[in-house]
Amino acid sequence: MISNHRIILKKRPNYNSLPLEDDFQYEECPIPELDTGQILVKTLYLSMDPYMRCKMNENTGTDYLTPLNLDEVIDGVGLGVVMASEDSNFCEGDILESYHWPWQKYAVFDVSGFNSLLVNKVDTKLTGKNYTLMLNLFGLPGLAAFIGIRQKAHINPEAKQTMAVSAAGGASGSMAVQISKLEGCSRVVGICGSSEKCKFVADLGADDVINYKEGDLDQRLSEACPHGVDIYFDNVGGAISDAVISHMNDNSHVVLCGQIAMYNTDHEYPPPLSGEIQDLLCTRDITRERFLVLNYIERFQASILQLNKWYKMGKIKCRETVTHGLSKVPEAFIGMMSGRNIGKQIVCVSEP
Ligand code: NDP
Repeated sequence: MISNHRIILKKRPNYNSLPLEDDFQYEECPIPELDTGQILVKTLYLSMDPYMRCKMNENTGTDYLTPLNLDEVIDGVGLGVVMASEDSNFCEGDILESYHWPWQKYAVFDVSGFNSLLVNKVDTKLTGKNYTLMLNLFGLPGLAAFIGIRQKAHINPEAKQTMAVSAAGGASGSMAVQISKLEGCSRVVGICGSSEKCKFVADLGADDVINYKEGDLDQRLSEACPHGVDIYFDNVGGAISDAVISHMNDNSHVVLCGQIAMYNTDHEYPPPLSGEIQDLLCTRDITRERFLVLNYIERFQASILQLNKWYKMGKIKCRETVTHGLSKVPEAFIGMMSGRNIGKQIVCVSEP
């Protein structure tokens, strides 16, 4: 007899604190019956993404994220395999991905009519058996880094620019470090929270790496960016970003990718800057436009082709931190929010 399990949101995490394991509940649930226009899927991998923390709040802080409901199964980015199908467009064995994948081992998707847009078939010619590339290089982190840099960084190889990247040892940060070098940035400085991550980021080709938990960040930024910062790929916000922005040159650019340092709060997104930092942006003419990769869906296909080309040539490396078992999802999510991941944090729910 096959059993089924899911993760529900039991309590909303407190504002100003990381989620706790008690906020989630791992529980047994029935395997859903299949009806016409539906498919039964087995979850293979779940992606641990920072935006999910905002969805755990009653007020997500932004209009494009709806809050998760209490006592209901959580859903986020994930992928899995079709086990049975009552819809002619899907076959047993198809590998699918969705931004609304339930944190549940076996689940049913209604794929009739417009609902079919909720799931996409993974292009296995592109990924081979390496399906998790869809959650990493070819998913939100890789696309946010690539499209964010192309749209907002204004890299000009002749200008010998210096770029700083925060959360550089994480999923999108590690991509941003590599892509900015490939796009012609002459000096790339990573900022991250452990010596192991610093080593990883240096191995990716960063010219210098700063562990923000050690020493004086301001002094390290002066040493690492002697000509100031021309581009800042900002994944974190808060005190780290204030320090980087104070080193930015006239007419420089912030790629506002994310503000994870503020996600455990009830701030609106993007969170307000202090008056001092806002003044710096004005007086130095620094651009800092809101950037959301989902506003560029029409560019995904071409971007994936370019990322794949670099990947096949060995010019982009992808690292993952993989946690095993659905019951470990809360631990993996909290770990990612507290910086325990290197590269992309994934949970393997079932082996393919
Ligand atoms: P990561 O793999 O980078 O994991 C999150 C990392 O953030 C942690 O490992 C930790 O690294 C760092 N971090 C956590 N809390 C803090 C803090 N208080 N101060 C500084 N650093 C912190 O996650 P992702 O790559 O998935 O996401 C990174 C950012 O990109 C997020 O802000 C996310 O919202 C954003 N994003 C935006 C997208 C868009 O469309 N704009 C799309 C995808 C992601 P460390 O040990 O270095 O502190």
